[in-house]
Amino acid sequence: MTLAEAQALIPAVDLGELLKQLSIDPASRIQVHDLEGIKTLNRLISTRPKEDLQTLLHWSVLSASTGFLGQPWYGMADEYQRQRDQLVRSEPREEQTVEAIATQLYHPLSLLYVKTYFPESTRREVTEMVGHIRAEFELRLRTNPWLDESTRKAALEKLSRVDIQVGYPKTWIDFSSIDIRADDHLGNNQRIAGFSLQRELAKLPLPVKVERFNTPGKTTPIAVNAAYNPTYNGIDINAAIVQPPFYTPGADIAVNYCTIGAVIGHELTHGFDSNGSRFDAIGNVRNWWTPHASNEFKQRTQLLVNQFDGYKVLPDLVQSGSLTLTENTADLGGITLAHAALNRALKGKQLPKVDGLTTDQRCFVAWAQLWTFKARAERIRLLAATDYHALGFLRGFGPLRNMDAFHKAFGTRPGDPMWLEPTKRARIW
Ligand SMILES: [Zn+2]
Repeated sequence: MTLAEAQALIPAVDLGELLKQLSIDPASRIQVHDLEGIKTLNRLISTRPKEDLQTLLHWSVLSASTGFLGQPWYGMADEYQRQRDQLVRSEPREEQTVEAIATQLYHPLSLLYVKTYFPESTRREVTEMVGHIRAEFELRLRTNPWLDESTRKAALEKLSRVDIQVGYPKTWIDFSSIDIRADDHLGNNQRIAGFSLQRELAKLPLPVKVERFNTPGKTTPIAVNAAYNPTYNGIDINAAIVQPPFYTPGADIAVNYCTIGAVIGHELTHGFDSNGSRFDAIGNVRNWWTPHASNEFKQRTQLLVNQFDGYKVLPDLVQSGSLTLTENTADLGGITLAHAALNRALKGKQLPKVDGLTTDQRCFVAWAQLWTFKARAERIRLLAATDYHALGFLRGFGPLRNMDAFHKAFGTRPGDPMWLEPTKRARIW
């Protein structure tokens, strides 16, 4: 809406003055996220006494700052929560300190991490692996029997534009202008918050520029994670996930491919599943699947729903196949692509056996070991009800049962615990 339209919703606040105070040039159109919220705010401001509003603001600032202040403020928020919910959630001070630096000064800390633990040789190896995984996926998109021609064309176009970046961003955010003082923890946090706000505001008049590796806890190089982002059709493989158990420099490549490689393959297929189909090659919301492709995909993935519905996670509890479908599909795609990429890298040759296991066997064992998992029954109940990933141990073996290559590698037969009738195997990618 226009600024005037927004102003009409909240006469109690002078929006022009507010923007001026924030040094923001009024835009011709602005986005209002919550119509009811802004109207309610107007009612609150115009009906409550000024002293109440001052108390509320005073309280908001203090309660947001308790973690950065000394006694008696420090720990108050935790104590409040403990009394309200009977929960104690404070982490040890060392962990809080590391966490604070990791979220506030995420790039300077990441840069130190990368310099110390992420050698260029690791980046090169993973980048080469990514190339083989892409090539295997492209082959499947070209030859897959269930994709109709128009969906196939769109999928290939989308794959050609997936921007996979390994380790760390091309440019680091420069935090050096911030005045960091050894004796002013609260001030440091306020100055960093101000810096971040100004950085965001400076983007306002400019065209959209995608920034990578800078969402604390998720995509910074120090977060143990790799993620596909449909809004820019890219994958960030953070430096910190490229370490054991996902990757070990100089280790058996069968193991490295079928752990970190399978994770990368998993993320890649997310661009081409029931969610990825809603975003096009440049990240706009536009469904590029025909109803035919969508139907075929559904039919094929239904086999996974049936399988996972049958897995017990506790004596009286089964996994939900539909809740975990998207992730199970990505796991099957990921290990399928990683295994094929491994064989592509080896040009069809097998490496010597290790501990009596062939190259292919070691690949599948490595995948299974990646999902080693232990939890109390209460935690399993919580995860089974809320997590759209299957329980760890199911991820370890569930996808493998669908792979012809797995059955070939181990020579499984009807009656073996891992056996699955070929007609019941889900074949998606
Ligand atoms: Zn996933």
